[in-house]
Amino acid sequence: MLGDPASPLFWSINGAQPDERSLPDWCAYTGQDTQDAINWGWLNALHSDDQEQVRASWQKAVLARQPATFTCQIRHRSQGYQAFRVSNIPAFATLHALQGWFSFFLDEPAPPPLIDENWEIRLMHGMIYAQNVLGIFCLSLDGSILRVNERFCQLTGYAEAELLSLTLWQLTRPEDIELHLQAIRERLVSGHATQPFRIRYLRKDHTLTWVRITQLLVRQPTGEPHYFFCMVEDVNAQVQAEVERAELLASVQEAHIEALGRTLQLEAVFEAMTDGILVSDREGNIIQSNAAIYRILHLDKHPDFLQQPFARRLSQLKAVDENGQVVPPEEWPLARVLRGETLKRGREEDVHLYLPDGESIYVNHTGACMRDQNNQIIGAVLVIHDVNERHMLENRIQKSFRILLALAEELVDLPRRITQPLAAEQPTLTHPFQAASEYLAELTCQMLEYRGVSIALLDSDTAQMRLVALSGFSPEEQAFYYDTFSSTAPVDYLKESKISRLRENEVAIEEFHYHLDDPRPYKVLLAPMMIGGRLVGVLSVEKTELNATYTSEEFSLVKAIAKLILLVIERERIQREWIEAHTSELALREANRRFDEFLSIASHELRTPLAGIKGHIQLARRRLTALQSEQVAEIEDLSNKLDKIQEYLLQAEHRVNVQNRMISDLLDVSRIQANKLELRIGPCDLLQVVDDAIKDQQYNAPERVITLEAENQQPIMVQGDADRLGQVIHNYLTNALKYSPPERPVSVHVARNEREVRIAVQDQGPGLTPEEQKYVWERFYRVKGIPTLSGGQGLGLGLHICRTIIEAHEGTFGLESTPGQGSRFWFTLPLEHASTPVSEHPSRAQREQSAFPPA
Ligand code: ADP
Repeated sequence: MLGDPASPLFWSINGAQPDERSLPDWCAYTGQDTQDAINWGWLNALHSDDQEQVRASWQKAVLARQPATFTCQIRHRSQGYQAFRVSNIPAFATLHALQGWFSFFLDEPAPPPLIDENWEIRLMHGMIYAQNVLGIFCLSLDGSILRVNERFCQLTGYAEAELLSLTLWQLTRPEDIELHLQAIRERLVSGHATQPFRIRYLRKDHTLTWVRITQLLVRQPTGEPHYFFCMVEDVNAQVQAEVERAELLASVQEAHIEALGRTLQLEAVFEAMTDGILVSDREGNIIQSNAAIYRILHLDKHPDFLQQPFARRLSQLKAVDENGQVVPPEEWPLARVLRGETLKRGREEDVHLYLPDGESIYVNHTGACMRDQNNQIIGAVLVIHDVNERHMLENRIQKSFRILLALAEELVDLPRRITQPLAAEQPTLTHPFQAASEYLAELTCQMLEYRGVSIALLDSDTAQMRLVALSGFSPEEQAFYYDTFSSTAPVDYLKESKISRLRENEVAIEEFHYHLDDPRPYKVLLAPMMIGGRLVGVLSVEKTELNATYTSEEFSLVKAIAKLILLVIERERIQREWIEAHTSELALREANRRFDEFLSIASHELRTPLAGIKGHIQLARRRLTALQSEQVAEIEDLSNKLDKIQEYLLQAEHRVNVQNRMISDLLDVSRIQANKLELRIGPCDLLQVVDDAIKDQQYNAPERVITLEAENQQPIMVQGDADRLGQVIHNYLTNALKYSPPERPVSVHVARNEREVRIAVQDQGPGLTPEEQKYVWERFYRVKGIPTLSGGQGLGLGLHICRTIIEAHEGTFGLESTPGQGSRFWFTLPLEHASTPVSEHPSRAQREQSAFPPA
């Protein structure tokens, strides 16, 4: 038993010594003096029989973390060993570090608690124990459980008998033992009642249970502490509620902080938004707005505008929709939203808004109503977007398009406007495209409302600019422009960087000083005119204001106009070239026509006298022949003279023949040109025609060798004009004889197959190059350097006539020749089919009608 209620109970095990503070109690109990206690310590004070048991008991207590209660004999200074019952409670500083021991000295054996004999008290006692609200147990001063009630058993999950074999420390959660001890000590030391406190007990099923414990120290009638009467209340639900409450509180606080943060954030966003926001109540009164709305609606000078009622506000505004209709009050966006409509950001929500300060802007609305839990509209949120910029941009773009379109339409008419004057009435123009350019410059100037427009073209040969058009400038400025831009290179007046930009097909802005008395520069916008990646000109525009700025749309527009102008100028150029080419072709045709006319007239004029001359020569020759034979044969001298005259007459006739042939050729060609070469088609024996032609030629040139090579002498029948076909063979033969040396023979080859006949005239003349071969069939073509070795000079018409005749007979023609080795001119004709009955041959009249059209 603890003798002194105020005695400390703590004993250190350090060095197995009682703690300094506990020495007096130790000495009082054991009957040792201080020195003995210090010298002997705990273990040495023990009887040797008990030492082992005590050690084992301590170890067990440490391991089990439970109090160890044992009986031992402790040395008395004068009376030998005395038996003590000791309860040692291990105290841990941390989970594993043993800090010391509490030791209770108990009398041996512990006396049972004394219960008052008074029946009333016993009755109350019994009632207290029997109640089922509070758990009750009695705790001996050494921590043993002396008595428990049913409720306590329920709380701990143990049976009564089990609890009575336990100490309180076995029931207490290890971490809470210190707290419990503290309470007990306080109670014992101070003697005052301790406040109820909460502690966790370990239930039998190892779960924890929260209890609130109130302990009363029951004293003996002598006043000594006897035992603790403990009342235990189940506070699990309370603790749980508290925990939940605390958690709830914490989360509420967290939510509150978060909500606050969000609100602040939203407010910041609301204020920072560039769109204006209005929050209204059900009547359209504004209950909240942001800063942007003041800017958009220009409300700086009307700060209380938004505080006014809806109708009053509307009376100071005017809205016009996309179709130019004034929006009635009931159709205002806020009114519509308050009726439950949701406004999405569509173009149809754009309105032109006339503001209280007299200005006007374009705005777009989005918005929705706010509803309460019963789905009743309680207000609206309206967002107002400033779309002024967009509208301005659209207007500018539309204007640009209108200008371009108008320009394009005007340009369609351009050729009519400028071609006429260009061709005849303005012969003094300095540049072929000047009229077109001037018109375009003027058009651009008027449509874009620029102060001045100029067009300069870059000459690719000289790399110099040539000013081709100016519009809108004063004479003084024009003079400046002409000085600056005519016949100068761009580098003379443009910075290299600006030229580079233009070459890269980018616009550039340059400053120019026009007025000598005004030092301020005009800002000129220069747009490149490019063809195939090459800079070929520059369109310059400038505004009336000195310090003008140009928008990006203007850049694009002026660039597009430059391109358009360039296209027109290019078209003009191509058209001009075409007209020139066309004109020369017309001139050629006219020349040909006149030439043909001339040919036919000339042929007639020449031929008629030639016929007369030839008639007279022939008459003279006949008379001379008669004279020679009849009268003067014997007169030798006269005869010689007459022979001479005969020879002259022969030569004269030959020349007349040559002249005649030339005139015939000319006439034929003019007939061909006038589509008037007529053929008399009929069955004709080509072999006969060839034979006749050879005989004719041989007659005229008896000294020449002309051979005929034919497979047989059978007639070769073709449908054709015998005279014209004879003309062809004549021409081939004449040329062969004419261009080859007299000693070289000329051969004619006739060959046929089932379908056609082929006639070829072979000579051993100079031959022709492939290039010459291409052209010999053309009119008036004569190969240079081929001399005429016999016969008269030709006009280069014979082969052209041959070709025309052969083609009119549906034949083919050609020439094989090697320079220096002679030529072989040939033609083919389809054979008249042997099986065709004679009756089927067309009549002469029919044949004449069906004459081949001339080529
Ligand atoms: P021309 O009356 O000048 O002979 P042609 O139309 O008959 O006119 O012939 C055209 C030209 O072709 C001749 O001027 C001559 O230069 C060349 N030519 C024609 N036939 C021959 C040939 N057999 N050998 C060489 N050159 C020829």
